[in-house]
Amino acid sequence: MENTLSNGNVLPLTSFPRPQNFISADTARPRNIILAQLPADEYGVLARHLVPVDLPLEKHLSEPNQPIEFIYFLNTGLISTDAVTVSGEQVEVGLIGREGFSGLAALLDQPQMSHSVIMQGFGEGLRIRSALARTEFVKGGMFQKIVHAFAYLQLVQITQSVLCNRMHEVEARLARWLLSSADRMESESLHLTQEFLSQMLGVQRSTVTVAAGDLQRCGLIGYSRGRIHILDRPGLTAKACECYGIVNASYVRVLKKGDNGDLNYAL
Ligand SMILES: [Zn+2]
Repeated sequence: MENTLSNGNVLPLTSFPRPQNFISADTARPRNIILAQLPADEYGVLARHLVPVDLPLEKHLSEPNQPIEFIYFLNTGLISTDAVTVSGEQVEVGLIGREGFSGLAALLDQPQMSHSVIMQGFGEGLRIRSALARTEFVKGGMFQKIVHAFAYLQLVQITQSVLCNRMHEVEARLARWLLSSADRMESESLHLTQEFLSQMLGVQRSTVTVAAGDLQRCGLIGYSRGRIHILDRPGLTAKACECYGIVNASYVRVLKKGDNGDLNYAL
């Protein structure tokens, strides 16, 4: 890593120039659950290097097998982690909302990974150079503890997606995917095209059209102005494959409402 010396020591954050568009540690905490939960001293160190960024739909946060230059903490929006083939086909294996960030591999001292990481729902967040985030991560404080819990949630999702993509019908997968996206976005209204849905599920667009049409006829979802609305969550949950409940149970266990009334990592 660029901030690691040949003797294994890590350069202090003060060795790095401070970005011009930084945020102040004195301002209100971001909505990102990790940044909001950090003790003041740990947050203060990171905040010196966090830069607010808009994150438009389909923005690539990192490319397969390319250096992960920045980590993006989400305040709003939705990140999709996608496995891709050499010919460019892809299938989604994980979702990240404001409970997390892109670029986990960089914190684990791996400069790149084989996934594509893109914005699936537009939003905004805070960007930090991955080397700087790693410097804070290796100190072993609360940041490291929370990142471990976040990594666990990613592992749960990816593992379940392997089974789901192989074993479950498109309609059940679509229902799972809509519910999971809504959970991470904390919104029952999702800005999604069927083209995008077909890419995420790794199936033909016509297949998604049929599956979404069935869900719509059952009154579970509706469309308006380019958005999909979840109209009947219990009904959609009943249609979803078991993967939704399995993954959701992990989220419910790891993320709990704290004294501040917001979600926190249960550590
Ligand atoms: Zn499934």
